[in-house]
Amino acid sequence: GIAFLDGQYLPMSQAKVSVLDWGFLHSDATYDTVHVWNGRFFRLDLHLDRFFRGLEKLRMTIPFDRDDVADILHNCVALSGHRAAYVEMLCTRGASPSFSRDPRQAINRFMAFAVPFGSVANAEQLQRGLRVAISDKVRIPPASVDPSIKNYHWLDLVRGLYDAYDRGAETALILDFNGNVAEGPGFNVFRVKDGKLSTPAIGVLPGITRRTVFDLCAEEGLVAVAADVSVAALKAADEVFVTSTAGGIMPVTEIDGAPIADGKVGSVTSRLMALYWQKHDDPVWS
Ligand code: PMP
Repeated sequence: GIAFLDGQYLPMSQAKVSVLDWGFLHSDATYDTVHVWNGRFFRLDLHLDRFFRGLEKLRMTIPFDRDDVADILHNCVALSGHRAAYVEMLCTRGASPSFSRDPRQAINRFMAFAVPFGSVANAEQLQRGLRVAISDKVRIPPASVDPSIKNYHWLDLVRGLYDAYDRGAETALILDFNGNVAEGPGFNVFRVKDGKLSTPAIGVLPGITRRTVFDLCAEEGLVAVAADVSVAALKAADEVFVTSTAGGIMPVTEIDGAPIADGKVGSVTSRLMALYWQKHDDPVWS
């Protein structure tokens, strides 16, 4: 992979930051990840929107505008030589030259990198569906409970993952403050019931893949809403799937050891998965 750091393109192994950087010490950072498939970015504009909104809310400034960042990301991918890549842009508060505790003294640091794409779900899991456990850990959205700021804070999600592993599952979903389902380590969740889709509205990252599912549903004439999803409602679904940039649409066929419906990947999920990958070749969507 290739990284961009301090104005230079470097091999990943040479891209290093100080341990005094507030991104490391305080998780004082924001980031976004984009997927490149067949040499083409997917929904880059939406990822840049979310990244620049996060910078603004965190009062970070970088010496690049949207077009500059897009160019840097394209360059990282081109230099890395990968046709399928996982691309990340990030900005940390940085470090203050005088070790001041005043964040205004810190020099914000923009970085980017492109690494070969590795999907979070393998081919077998995509075929049979993921086995998920629901942990009782509660998602604390980062940055004063503003879930729209994408941040590395994952303590709740990682603890949820260990709960899931302890129970023989492959990944986890954790809860919102009201005990409803929130999200998982790096993905949003959808429930399909009687042909209608719902996905948690509160306390979750507004995922770009989640948004893409809404867009696909609009094209397909499917009803999709953002609304509370209780644990019981999720388990009683006809179909469940999770969504992320790193994995696309991924079916879930088992929750807490029990099958969802007949335990097979459902027809709505299969249809959306196929459409999702088709759109990667559609210039209107990339
Ligand atoms: N929730 C969390 C906590 C995440 O970290 C991610 C991905 N980084 C998502 C949801 C999925 O968002 P997206 O579809 O934009 O990748």
